[in-house]
Amino acid sequence: MFVITCPYCGARDQSEFTYAGEAHIARPEWDDAMTDEQWAGFVFMRNNPKGVFAERWMHAAGCRKFFNVIRNTATDEILAVYEIGAEPPKVSARLPATPSGEALGSGNDAVKVVASDEGARP
Ligand SMILES: [Zn+2]
Repeated sequence: MFVITCPYCGARDQSEFTYAGEAHIARPEWDDAMTDEQWAGFVFMRNNPKGVFAERWMHAAGCRKFFNVIRNTATDEILAVYEIGAEPPKVSARLPATPSGEALGSGNDAVKVVASDEGARP
C-alpha cells in the first residue's frame, strides 16, 4: 500500500484509487486502411516496465477524476502527480538493480528520468 496525492483532493490511501493503465495512450484517427493488428495494438498492447512509468489513476472513492502519476514500479515511489493533458514533469528516481543484472529502463517515452544512477549497480 502507498499514498497517492490526488491533485484535486490531496493525499489519500491507495485503496481509494483505481489503476487505469498506461498514461499518454492516444487513440488513433479512424482510417479505413487500419488493420485489425493496428487496432489490436492500440487496444491491448501496453508497456509493463520495472522502473519509472507514467500511469493513469482514478480517485474512485473520492472526486472520481482521472489524473496521471509517474511511479517507480520497482519501489512504488510516486515521483509526480499531474493533471490529464499536462506535460509530464521531469523526475529523478533511484532505480535498483535486478538480481539478474537487468538494466532498468525509463519506462514509457512520456517519462524523462533526470538522474537515475543513485543506488544502481556498479
Ligand atoms: Zn480526488
